[in-house]
Order: sequence, then C-alpha cells, then structure tokens
Amino acid sequence: MYEVICPQCGDTRTVKAKKPWMKDQEEPFEKMCKPCSMTGKTHSQETRNKLSQIAKAQQTPELLQFKSQFMKDHPELWQNNLQQELGSQSRIGTHHTDEAKAKISASNTGKTRTAETRAKISQAMKKIRSQNESN
Ligand SMILES: [Zn+2]
Repeated sequence: MYEVICPQCGDTRTVKAKKPWMKDQEEPFEKMCKPCSMTGKTHSQETRNKLSQIAKAQQTPELLQFKSQFMKDHPELWQNNLQQELGSQSRIGTHHTDEAKAKISASNTGKTRTAETRAKISQAMKKIRSQNESN
C-alpha cells in the first residue's frame, strides 16, 4: 500500500500497487485525486499558496473571536484607558458621575494579577501581534 496525497484538496488515499509516476517521488506521493484533476490543472505551488490564503481567511473570525473573548476576560487592560480618560475629564473641574465612579471602582478591583495570569496575558498578546504581522 502506498499513501498518496492530493496537492489540490489535501485528501489522502492509498493505492495498492506502485504506479509509474511514483518512481520519481518519495512517500507521501503527490497526485491529484480524480475530482481535482477534472476541475482544472493548477500548479501545485500555486495551489499551496491558495490553500494557505484560504486558511488565513478562515483564521480571521476565530482571531476576532479570540480577541473579543480576551478583552472580556481581561477588562482591566482596556478599563485602564477608560479610567485615564475619566481622570482627565475630572481635572477640568467636573465631578465624577456615579456611573463613572462605579467604572473606576470596577476597574480597580481585582487588579492584582498573579505571575501566571501575567504570563498568560503576555503570551496572548504576543500571539495576537504575531498573527497581525503575518496578515
Ligand atoms: Zn483532490
């Protein structure tokens, strides 16, 4: 049995006997499956680029979901900015509204982070940055 991978759709299949086109290749052997060979003859490198583009495009909603979930999990990251905005407003001479006070209070509570949490945040931010750069 020989394992054959289709460079077009990535499907793997096995063939029982060695085929003539296998002699120039090493396992896993690359050959288009029947449906792919019929739908068009794309250069394999071009196909790989396309597949990687599709993979990247599919990653985007997940990435957005990850970011949004991350912000929900770590409100202190963006509430610090909110707090600064509220602070600068208060310097003009107006009093904090109860709502603003509650927000500041909420952002201050639970601010202490363990080293583990900080490491997680750092890793997550690195992940976000590296994914942004590769896009
Ligand atoms: Zn295929």
